[in-house]
Amino acid sequence: MKKYKLLLSISLVISIVLSGCFAKETTNEALKVKEESKKRVVSNLEGFTPQEILPGSKSEYDMKLAMNEEGKFRADAKITITNLSDETWSDLKLYVIPNVSTPIKITSLKVDGKERSYTLEQDMLHVPLQEGVALNKSVTFHMKYEFKEPISGFRFSRIGENYYLAHWYPMVPTYRNGWNKQPYANNGESYHTTFSNFKVAYDIPEEYTIVTTGENRLPSGRNGVIHAEKVKEFYVGIMKNPKVVERNIQNVKIRMLGVDESDELLQEVFGIAERALTYFSTTFGPYPHNELDIILDGPAMEYPGIVTVSSAKEVPKEFLVEAIVHEIAHQWFYGMVTNDPYFHAWIDEGMTSLATDMFLEKNLSKEHYGSFLETNGVRPSNLSLNDYEGTLIFAYIYGQVPMKINEIFDGYSGRETAEAFLKEYVRLYQYKEIDTDEFVRFIKHYLQLEDDSLFEGWLKLK
Ligand SMILES: [Zn+2]
Repeated sequence: MKKYKLLLSISLVISIVLSGCFAKETTNEALKVKEESKKRVVSNLEGFTPQEILPGSKSEYDMKLAMNEEGKFRADAKITITNLSDETWSDLKLYVIPNVSTPIKITSLKVDGKERSYTLEQDMLHVPLQEGVALNKSVTFHMKYEFKEPISGFRFSRIGENYYLAHWYPMVPTYRNGWNKQPYANNGESYHTTFSNFKVAYDIPEEYTIVTTGENRLPSGRNGVIHAEKVKEFYVGIMKNPKVVERNIQNVKIRMLGVDESDELLQEVFGIAERALTYFSTTFGPYPHNELDIILDGPAMEYPGIVTVSSAKEVPKEFLVEAIVHEIAHQWFYGMVTNDPYFHAWIDEGMTSLATDMFLEKNLSKEHYGSFLETNGVRPSNLSLNDYEGTLIFAYIYGQVPMKINEIFDGYSGRETAEAFLKEYVRLYQYKEIDTDEFVRFIKHYLQLEDDSLFEGWLKLK
C-alpha cells in the first residue's frame, strides 16, 4: 500500500493506472501490425445457448444515508438476502470495504430482527446464523453504522469539499462452494456482486448535491429517495457546487460534473462522452439507464450509471479522453455482462479496452491496441488478482489482453467483426455472468475456431 501511495504522488498518469480500472500506454503504433488478409466471418449462432454462471444469492437493498455538517455519516442498510444455491447457509459473509481505509462503527446488527454477534476484519463481515437458510429462503440483514470519510481512501474518500462513496454499504457476495468472498486487494476489484435492486433515502447538508447510480435531479435537494434496478452496486457522490454540463442524447441524459475546470474544457470533454455513448449504443445495443453521470474528480473507475475520471485540469487531455471512453464502455462490459473481477478480470477489462480502441480508431483515427513488454515473461491473463505481484496486473490484463484480442480480430476483418461479435456478446449475455471457459466457448463458436491455438500462451484453459 505504501508503494502505491508513493507512486500516486510521483505521477498522475501512474495514479490513473493504479485506479484498477483503466491503464494504457499512449504511444504504441509500432506494435500494431495491419494486415489486409482478412477472413470473413459468417457466424451462425443457431443452436448456441449461453451457459451463465449462476450467482447463488439474490439481494434487495433498502438503505438510508445521512451526512451532517461536519462530514460525518450515519447509514442504515437493510438487505433481504435469498439463498439461490444448492447448499444450506450457516453464516453470512459480506464485504464492508470502507473498513479497509477508515474505522466503521457498527451500532446495531440484526438478522431477522434479532441482534447477532459478528466479526469485522479488513473488508470481511462474518455473521454466524443460528438457523440454516435453505434454497429459496431469505433472511433480513439489518446493520446501522457510522463513519467519517478518509482523505486518502481508495475510491472512498473526501477530495477537497467533495465526498466520494464507492462501496459504502455492506455488499452481498455471490455464493458458490461457500461465500465467494476473496481477500481484499487494491490492484484491481476484489469484490463481486450480482445484479440487485436498490432504494436509498438520503439526507445531506443544504449546500451539497448528491449524484448516484440511480436517477436524481440536480441539485438534488437536502433529502429524497433514489431507486436503481438491476445494478451490481450503488455509487454515491456528494458534491458542493459542481460545475455541470448536461445534454440529452438518444433519450439518455448525460451529465458531466467538474470541480473547477473551465467551461471550454468541460464542453470539449463532454463532446467526447457524447460521441462515445452514441457509438457504443449504436454498436452494442442501448445504454441500460436513462442517465449517465461523469464526475471529473478522483481515480478513473466505472460504476453503474456513473463513472469517475481525473479532473480535466490534472491529466493530459489525450489520457483523459481515453479514460472517459474506457469507463463509459464498461457500462456494457461490467454493467450489463458481468464476470468475477477477482478471477476473470481480463474479460470485462479486455472487452472494454477493445471497445475503447474501436471507438478511438473509428472516431478519432487513432490506432491503439494494447501493448505488452516481453521482459515481463510469459504468463496468462486469466489468473486471479493475487497471482499478479505489484503492478504486473497492468501488463497482463490491460496490456496483453487488448493486444491479443485485437490480433485475433485482425485476422477476421478487424473492427467490423469485432463490432458484430461484441453486439452478439451483449445480446446473449446481458445480465448474465460469464467466465473464461464460457467466453472461449462463445468466441470459438462465433469465429468457428477448430482448436485453442489462438489462446495459447495468454489464457490458461482447462
Ligand atoms: Zn477498466
